[in-house]
Amino acid sequence: MRAYRYTGPHRAELTEIPVPEPGLGDVLVRVGASGACHSDLGILAAPPGAFPVPLTLGHEVAGYVESLGSGVSGWDIGEPVVVHALFGCGRCRACVLGLENRCRVVGFDGLGLTRDGGMADYVVVPETHLVRTGDLDLTQAAPLADAGLTAYHAIELCRDALRPGTHCVVIGVGGLGHMAVQILAATTGVSVIAVDVEDAALELAARLGAAHTVRSGPDAVEHIREIVGPFPDGADVVLDFVGVTPTLDTARAVVSRGGRLALVGLGQGELTFRPTPGNPVTEMPVETSAVVPFWGNHQELAEVVALARAGHVTAETQVFPLADVAEAYAKLERGEVRGRAVMVP
Ligand code: NAD
Ligand code: ZN
Ligand code: ZN
Repeated sequence: MRAYRYTGPHRAELTEIPVPEPGLGDVLVRVGASGACHSDLGILAAPPGAFPVPLTLGHEVAGYVESLGSGVSGWDIGEPVVVHALFGCGRCRACVLGLENRCRVVGFDGLGLTRDGGMADYVVVPETHLVRTGDLDLTQAAPLADAGLTAYHAIELCRDALRPGTHCVVIGVGGLGHMAVQILAATTGVSVIAVDVEDAALELAARLGAAHTVRSGPDAVEHIREIVGPFPDGADVVLDFVGVTPTLDTARAVVSRGGRLALVGLGQGELTFRPTPGNPVTEMPVETSAVVPFWGNHQELAEVVALARAGHVTAETQVFPLADVAEAYAKLERGEVRGRAVMVP
């Protein structure tokens, strides 16, 4: 079968490898669609040794049950599924509560991260990591596995602050952000202020339900402040799906006292809280809390799938044949993908 494999820093290739065998408790999934996440670019840029090699990329996978490993029953051959690709130890206090993304034992484990992922014709997945997708198109189902799930989980962590009529700023309306705009619209009643550097991303945000759009840059804080009001008022929640220093500065500058910052983007920026002339205590509004969401749990994936099946969440996709996977990542790196790039074998 074909597999797009990471082989070392800045190196990946589409290559032929044997179809893997499903072991005890596993299902062999024939891949129907596999999304390209910005984090994959982070894997490619990571220092040597940070990720195992060779490694098939792809942690956003939907497909069909192809065959069952020993001990597995209850799945129909050909049944469509989406993969919950995050692994915890299964035994620690976080895992037994179903919070594998807070596992106290395993640092970082997932398909396409530490185990072979879904940028391939087939992938082996433990049956406990599958969610049925019913009649959902698989190019729609795949982006739910990370873009949808991570956005949903970040919103879950802020849900008590997302009251109808309040403001939520969404910074970065890409794969994750465009799902967040829709999930907010479908489940909260907040007024969404979408922020991006690309006009096309802002147009997409407006189409998906954002009440306001603001171009990221030096004037962004002033424009957002015109909507949310002056300090110490502000946006009740800011979801930053970029995480570079300029977006973190914007997030801190527009959040209200007692507000919530969700730092999802892995842009390696710095968030400071020094005193300033205008705010002699700290430039971070007091009583603000910051949370660093990580992916999401199995039940949350089932809930995002339910939202999608009910028509509340629709991924904006750019579909590529698996043969063009390298080109898809190059476009993602150049900022030329709107919504999610999805590979179809
Ligand atoms: P993406 O490339 O699809 O989208 C990024 C968006 O941000 C694009 O629309 C881009 O135009 C916009 N953008 C870039 N610079 C900006 C700036 N300075 N101001 C405003 N907008 C800007 O990326 P994605 O796949 O949605 O991932 C987003 C981030 O989230 C990445 O850093 C990724 O690694 C991270 N991520 C984190 C988790 C987690 O669990 N915490 C999970 C998945 C992805
Ligand atoms: Zn990802
Ligand atoms: Zn654990």
